Amino acid sequence: MIKAILFDLDDTLLWDQKSVKEAFRATCKAADERYRLDPEILEKAVREAARKLYSNYEFYPFTQMIGINPFEGLWGNFLDENHEEFKKMKEKVPEYRKDAWTTGLKKLGVDDPDFGQELAERFPAERKKAPFVYEDTFKTLDALKGQYQLLLLTNGSPDLQNTKLTITPELSPYFDHIVISGAFGRGKPDPSIFEHALSLLSIDRDEAIMVGDNLMTDILGANRAGIQSVWINRHEKERNEVIPTYEIKHLNELFPILEKLK
Ligand SMILES: [Mg+2]
Repeated sequence: MIKAILFDLDDTLLWDQKSVKEAFRATCKAADERYRLDPEILEKAVREAARKLYSNYEFYPFTQMIGINPFEGLWGNFLDENHEEFKKMKEKVPEYRKDAWTTGLKKLGVDDPDFGQELAERFPAERKKAPFVYEDTFKTLDALKGQYQLLLLTNGSPDLQNTKLTITPELSPYFDHIVISGAFGRGKPDPSIFEHALSLLSIDRDEAIMVGDNLMTDILGANRAGIQSVWINRHEKERNEVIPTYEIKHLNELFPILEKLK
């Protein structure tokens, strides 16, 4: 019998990718107004530059283990004091942002590091202005609250994940526990963070079910920990070798699954 539901945050309950896209759109539009350039090509160039710069930093393996992507680096402050690697990130991100935007501009023939700096500061402001929640998130949580223990299991920097939760304050009150990988010390798919979640809930592995959008973190980790899983595949992504227990397209498809498991 299922007693608790473990939810992923980004792109499961919060539509992070849309927020990032919206922040790029607004920031690149400002660049278009100044320099008459194609905002979509600039976005592509900055995304590419960001990925490349990010993967060369000394703290890159840490970001992979905790689960912090290059675009989170473009707006997060990483004020977390609990780990040396977060301190390195905090020091490095201002330069990272400026370099990513300046390199992107250069790719389009604009050599203006001062403007790169301006855009680097603009992007975090735009990201904070654009939180998106999926239309079925609150309806689903409303129906589950009181029926099940709810635990939010999210990869990332505690400072940044808490910023996301502060911008969308309606979300946190649904959860009995919030577990953030950067505070725990290891991220999904490491089974230890799932075991930590079970111990907070005081339940066995067969009494929990994990719901998440990422096969390589949410579902792989649940599999490793021996927890049933629901892959929420809203955007028709391809399957790979990681097999979820269930696959759904909308959160309301959770209810027949939970009914069956009763
Ligand atoms: Mg996710």
